[in-house]
Amino acid sequence: MLILFTGCIFMLPAPSICENQPKTIIVVNPGHGGHDLGARGTDGTIEKNITLALANRIVENLKPRYQPILTRTGDYYLNITERTSFANYNKAALFVSIHAGGNYDFRTSGITISYLDNTSNLNTFSQPPSLKNKNDGYMNILWNETHKNQITKSIELGKCIQKRFSQNRQLSKNRLLSSPLRVLTGANMPAVMIEIGYLSNPIEEKKLQNNDYLAELAKEITTGIDDFFMKAENHIPQ
Ligand SMILES: [Zn+2]
Repeated sequence: MLILFTGCIFMLPAPSICENQPKTIIVVNPGHGGHDLGARGTDGTIEKNITLALANRIVENLKPRYQPILTRTGDYYLNITERTSFANYNKAALFVSIHAGGNYDFRTSGITISYLDNTSNLNTFSQPPSLKNKNDGYMNILWNETHKNQITKSIELGKCIQKRFSQNRQLSKNRLLSSPLRVLTGANMPAVMIEIGYLSNPIEEKKLQNNDYLAELAKEITTGIDDFFMKAENHIPQ
């Protein structure tokens, strides 16, 4: 039998359960911040605050099994490439970006999980001048090309999270699609953006103001991440 006793049971997911082993790093990106408010609901809810509130919940849920890191921990601005570079610099295993959308049609509703559209013209996204990375080899790859090899895994991650949403009655209106998302372009790891609803829709704004609803979102996103790592091919050796 090929069972190796290294202190961990090999069938458990990648997140380390050994106290003295480094945990898998997951970067959680709360969209917007500072002068960049994002969408605003008719009741005054501001996207940058909701994204941070949810990201903090996700981080708390992930902490026992992973090393989650936020791109921003307060109300300040970071540009898109700084956010992605941060994930690369920290050698994150996953990058999860959180947004809450707005639409000119107030009836638009639902959760959208997006992965990078491989057919979009990524050449329009230039290499950030201050790109830093711990992995020197990675720096030889063009920023625009970086995420292309990760898209299959990003779709898999998106499916894992979508499945959990779909099993939750409150979150069952959701979709998984590809989008030309600049924030994912340079990510050197599986990455998705989750738009948790539309602040332009008064009913959804009300939901997003509710802490219990945010807790449900955080729970299913976290479990979806667990599901992704439970798959043997996504097991990351510690
Ligand atoms: Zn947004």
